[in-house]
Amino acid sequence: MKLEVIIGLEIHAQLATASKLWCGCDNDAFGAKPNTRICPVCCGFPGMLPVLNKEALRLAMRASVALGCEIQSFSKFDRKNYFYPDLPNGYQISQYDKPLALAGKVEIIHNGHHKKIGITRVHLENDAGKSIHNEQGTCLDFNRSGSPLIEIVTEPELRSPEEASIFAQELQKIIRAVGASDADMEKGMMRFDASISLRPEGDTSLYPRAEIKNLNTFSGLEKALTFEIQRQTALWKKNERPEKETTRGFDESTGKTKLMRQKESADDYRYFPEPDVPPLRFTEKERDEMVGELPELPLEKYMRYKNELDLSDAEALRLSEEPRLADFFESALKESKHTRKIANLLLSVVLAHSDWEKTEIKPSHLAEVVALLESGTVSSTGAKQILETILESGGEVKEVLHTLGLEQVSDTKQLEEWIDVVLEENEGMVAQFHAGKEKVLGSLIGQVMKRSGGSANPPMVQQILKDRLKK
Ligand SMILES: [Zn+2]
Repeated sequence: MKLEVIIGLEIHAQLATASKLWCGCDNDAFGAKPNTRICPVCCGFPGMLPVLNKEALRLAMRASVALGCEIQSFSKFDRKNYFYPDLPNGYQISQYDKPLALAGKVEIIHNGHHKKIGITRVHLENDAGKSIHNEQGTCLDFNRSGSPLIEIVTEPELRSPEEASIFAQELQKIIRAVGASDADMEKGMMRFDASISLRPEGDTSLYPRAEIKNLNTFSGLEKALTFEIQRQTALWKKNERPEKETTRGFDESTGKTKLMRQKESADDYRYFPEPDVPPLRFTEKERDEMVGELPELPLEKYMRYKNELDLSDAEALRLSEEPRLADFFESALKESKHTRKIANLLLSVVLAHSDWEKTEIKPSHLAEVVALLESGTVSSTGAKQILETILESGGEVKEVLHTLGLEQVSDTKQLEEWIDVVLEENEGMVAQFHAGKEKVLGSLIGQVMKRSGGSANPPMVQQILKDRLKK
């Protein structure tokens, strides 16, 4: 029996707002002392009243449209009740039967094939706090409590762990491109729950799935799903296919998933409409105004770079995946038509500097250096040195060029003087050249370069030497 893999994802991403979803507390608590970004609202004190953060709503709407979803003209908030020590209210304000947006599509490219993955829904909700288990026992930090999240749910249309990971990466690029979330996984700003089940090939029904909670790296997502396929395949082969939906956790250190509990159903959460937050209603005009202009999405950008700018696949992919990098690249292109040289120096020299965004490097520097390279004023090594100097200690291109003395000598008269001396001093090699041993040309060029202190323009030296030797 051949088994088919059915995977769906739920993604939580923290919205890039200044304040939390229902109160004015600072939303950026990463690295902050525990319980220093809190107030009665996000700590669930009796009588507190939540007020919706309009910026969070705007960002959720931008993300929804970028994911191809339809923003609903009516949506509402609901209480999702469950008891966790780090959920002070005893409920989360989420959206249940009337979510913000429905029915989207995200295009991915997997092994050269384009595929569209359906997005079931996007809704807004607040995050819980954090339980920290240490030698004192369990400590609670509510800094994250009340942070705005979007939850994105896909259709069960992913067919392999690799495809799930590619989709998750594309999603990260999209929500970053529209400014909805920084989606920094190391800071826990984006997390996945992955649902997976198997079925005999050709069967169209869906069997009880295992949901793996809280995956926070792409490789973890892929590994957990790979393990789960092996585990479930073994069960099917023994005729013991999963009968109930389960919730599982993934242990990065062992690479295995383990049972946490039977999966909760909607009934367990006793959803009911949130009485303190009014429903959302939009006319089409209001909705369009809120969403505003959307930038070119990463996949479109990648296709354009590849097809119109003649970049390689790897170059197009790297340059299109981060909005700031793509903006830098395109700003440089406004001042230079040498697309490939700009891309090459940006990828090989600028990005090699780990903190390049914090340095004084500007797109115009890149364009200027390429112009110097094109005119033969500097060698490619010189171009690299200029950029590296600006990345290290700042400065302007012309200034660095003079300070480092990197200007190439392209003055024919000067080059001829050096060449004359070299030819006189190396009569033996000249004779060898005329005897048919053309390889000595390289050594002669080397001699001229040495005499010029490395400043001679190598292509010009080669040309003049060749002309001279033919005489
Ligand atoms: Zn607060």
